Amino acid sequence: MYSIEADLHTHTVASTHAYSTVLENLHHAAKIGLRAIASTDHAPDMQDAPHIWHFMNLDALPREWEGVTLLRGAEVNILDADGRLDLPDSVLSDLDWVVASMHRRVCTARTMEETTRAYLKVAENPLIDLIGHSGTPAFAYDYRRVIPVFGEAGKIVEINAGSLSVRPESRKNCVEIARLCKEYRVPVAVDSDAHFCMAIGEVSGALEMLKEIDFPEELILNASADRLFSYLAAKHGDDWRAR
Ligand SMILES: [Zn+2]
Ligand SMILES: [Zn+2]
Repeated sequence: MYSIEADLHTHTVASTHAYSTVLENLHHAAKIGLRAIASTDHAPDMQDAPHIWHFMNLDALPREWEGVTLLRGAEVNILDADGRLDLPDSVLSDLDWVVASMHRRVCTARTMEETTRAYLKVAENPLIDLIGHSGTPAFAYDYRRVIPVFGEAGKIVEINAGSLSVRPESRKNCVEIARLCKEYRVPVAVDSDAHFCMAIGEVSGALEMLKEIDFPEELILNASADRLFSYLAAKHGDDWRAR
């Protein structure tokens, strides 16, 4: 069975529909043996998101706590069919890890044509690392057209453990996305999207799904912290921890 050493999509009380602090998240991550988490609160266009200053001041946090590396991140909103985001490049470029996601009350892309166009634009953005929970049925897109483009652009596609368990339609989309990632050798990250500390690292259902489709372990970025750290070194330089 696969396992993960890092959870790359987690929330804190800074988004008020989440309920744990950064320290509680780190402590739980340490307790279950993770080596890294990314703290990725919602960017400002989400209704209860923190102010932009939250993202500009993340270097106030320790780089490591109880042996767990903390990645400074954000979950930015993909706003429309043009792939516009709700944090400026100047802020994103200082972060370690940027998740880009579509959310119902924020994203105006609706038709498959619009969502596909938005994701193709997002693929072109070098500041984005992870495509968040893109199996959401409300934002289905042309998977076969876009997934290989994500691969060519060096994007990581998220298999979101929360989405998988929500409704059958989500699961069907997630399986299709994972199969295409396998076919086109596109790396994935398997994340909890935790809104409470005890959910961190809770991704067993998603890992079982990947096992069922015989997904290659080496394409799961966060199955190995060293693999993740190599990705970050390639992106931000060998001294990325000193940023
Ligand atoms: Zn989200
Ligand atoms: Zn999230």
